[in-house]
Amino acid sequence: MLNIYPIHAFKDNYIWMIHNQNYAVIVDPGIATPVIEYLELKKLHLSAILITHHHNDHTGGNKALLKSFDVPVYGPRNEFIPSMTHPLNEGDHVNLKEISLNLTVLDTPGHTQGHIAYFASNPMNMVFCGDTLFSCGCGRIFEGSPQQMYQSLQKLSQLPDDTLIYCTHEYTLDNIRFARTVDPKNSKLAELEIAARKLRNENIPTIPTTLMLEKAVNPFLRCDQQAVIDHVKNHSKQVLTGPLNTFTALREWKNNF
Ligand SMILES: [Zn+2]
Repeated sequence: MLNIYPIHAFKDNYIWMIHNQNYAVIVDPGIATPVIEYLELKKLHLSAILITHHHNDHTGGNKALLKSFDVPVYGPRNEFIPSMTHPLNEGDHVNLKEISLNLTVLDTPGHTQGHIAYFASNPMNMVFCGDTLFSCGCGRIFEGSPQQMYQSLQKLSQLPDDTLIYCTHEYTLDNIRFARTVDPKNSKLAELEIAARKLRNENIPTIPTTLMLEKAVNPFLRCDQQAVIDHVKNHSKQVLTGPLNTFTALREWKNNF
């Protein structure tokens, strides 16, 4: 039985711990202390660290964790990751024997140049996508181009509809506020707002989301939908020549929202 547990860190980060009864793998440990506390609480042995990209709020705990645990550190080949032992890129596989989990690596540049995501199809479809796809939003484009980010999101949207999306920030309510401006008549989005508000009032994470839901509500996955195109066009006062153009203007709008 595999559990996937969100460890809260900093203001709004989730460090995902994937574990069975004895072993745990940690995704993007920006800080070690809450990870070590949870390992001790559950009497778990850490067996690997997975990193999606180089930002400190995703990697800052590596050194301290490695002082206590001698484990491999998987991460993007094209970025500097502290103590990385297994550099990865598109199509590589990570076989985590201790927790019986096989992951496939996807290159998802845009937020950073070398950003990767980890997809598993067993025991269920799930992806650990770092700061690429968020619930109702997407990551800021710090190092890559809008085209790279657009293509990365398109790649993630090709995964099976029931894929659980494990992103690394609780940005959902803020993202919904923006999405409602862009796509005000979307009834699924209105429903999500009510559901997400209820969860957050009880301090329950809105993550994971599913790809199917995101395709229905996330404006960054809906740049081919007329309602989104019309609102972006109105706001940007630009002639939009296609989905990438719409995406670029939409991301720009969100940056200044
Ligand atoms: Zn980041």
